[in-house]
Amino acid sequence: LEPYFQFMLRVVTPGGLSTPAQWLVMDELAEKYGTGSIRLTTRQAFQLHGVLKWNLKKTIQEINTALLTTLAACGDVSRNVMCNPNPYQSEIHSEVYYWSQQLTTHLAPKTPAYHEIWLDGEKVVDSLEQNGGTVEVEPIYGPVYLPRKFKIGIAVPPSNDVDVYSQDLGFIAIVEDGKLAGFNVTVGGGMGMTHGDTATYPQLAKLIGFVTPDRILDVAEKTVTIQRDYGNRSIRKNARFKYTIDRHGLDWFVDELHDRLGWELAPAREFTFEHTGDRYGWIKGKDGRWNLTLYVESGRIADTEGYPLKTALREIAKMHTGDFRLTANQNLMIANVTSQKKSKIVALLKGYGIAEGTQYSALRRSALSCVALPTCGLAMAEAERYLPTLIEKLEPILEEAGLRDEEINIRMTGCPNGCARPALGEIAFIGKSPGKYNMYMGAGFSGDRLSKLYRENIGEDEIIDTLKPIIDRYAAERDSGEHFGDFVVRTGYVQVVTDGTNFHA
Ligand code: SF4
Repeated sequence: LEPYFQFMLRVVTPGGLSTPAQWLVMDELAEKYGTGSIRLTTRQAFQLHGVLKWNLKKTIQEINTALLTTLAACGDVSRNVMCNPNPYQSEIHSEVYYWSQQLTTHLAPKTPAYHEIWLDGEKVVDSLEQNGGTVEVEPIYGPVYLPRKFKIGIAVPPSNDVDVYSQDLGFIAIVEDGKLAGFNVTVGGGMGMTHGDTATYPQLAKLIGFVTPDRILDVAEKTVTIQRDYGNRSIRKNARFKYTIDRHGLDWFVDELHDRLGWELAPAREFTFEHTGDRYGWIKGKDGRWNLTLYVESGRIADTEGYPLKTALREIAKMHTGDFRLTANQNLMIANVTSQKKSKIVALLKGYGIAEGTQYSALRRSALSCVALPTCGLAMAEAERYLPTLIEKLEPILEEAGLRDEEINIRMTGCPNGCARPALGEIAFIGKSPGKYNMYMGAGFSGDRLSKLYRENIGEDEIIDTLKPIIDRYAAERDSGEHFGDFVVRTGYVQVVTDGTNFHA
């Protein structure tokens, strides 16, 4: 007899893409082996929760049969590469999606151990022996992999939906004369920290130059090898790439990168981000096909009383000939839809009472939360299950202030690991203990400035009492077009955070 161990399984979808057939497999696996629901993560992956230990192998095998994988969805390697999920909006998105796939494949661990352990593949030891023990199993990672996880994202301005500055390595698509000229490169972002340890902090990535598309694999590979060789392997809390760069300096990193590349990045090119988050509803792509970005509360695909979202999506998957795209903000795009199928999907959603999302308050539409309790072992407080309740209590305040349609990015996590990127929330809450949160404010609306601690260890009543006068003042005194995060910095509620190294100052 052994304890009733259960696991979370994360499934990689580079750029968030899955076919209707893959969707149906995930739907079935959630019923068969999980808790019944599917979680869409902030990194465009699927998560199944509650998979019992003796079902793990069967679940992973069935995931692989559907041409999906759990390989490198976790661990101290490059995770799935995030990317703006709408390749049908224009040629640019298709190209960018292609590069996200290339990066994911290029940086995927090459070890056959995954196949041996989970897929009944050839024994790793045997295959090494057959090759005289000289096979270089991991040409990029080497024998000990990276000191910590490594995250990559590609943004397509004006949308910064992937929060590119939160990534260890970011690429910003540069479009010139209607064509993808290349990518600006950013390095050293990351959200995680530890409560009470000022040696840990969220950090924004910094812009270091420009690269043409054919060279981004080279830049990514050499960047990963620098982190492999210089990352802190003694103190895990300081092992992320952001600390490596802050310890050695950005100039050192760029010199080292140029040395390893054997060529130099060009100067960064002009671009503008206008927002993070998703834009809901139907849009028509340049190819004449339709794409629906559907609001999914906290990324949870489940059937709840009066809201059979999982069933509705299952029925859509059965007739959909396009694909599904997981967004970086826990929502779902039903993509590449013909005009004929569009009317059927609209009717199906209506029949099940599923809302596209456009009718919700702007605050609700701009919310992001991590899984937290009860399934994340690191959680100190609720996030996914509580944020909708808090929003419900804030909505009348915003309504009264005339701000129902004002987008304010609000984020909540159950611990400072930062999975929902709270340091980039204009209003953010990080769990301290059940019902208690540290409250942060002042991040940039387009994901280009960190938030700052405003109140410590407060519960719901204090949160509402604290926010109401600020919201009322924002409604009365904001400049034209001024975002909430900019307002609370300008009016002195919080100091501007110019760099992660002064996040705690
Ligand atoms: Fe991530 Fe922490 Fe939330 Fe768990 S509780 S999902 S580790 S942020």
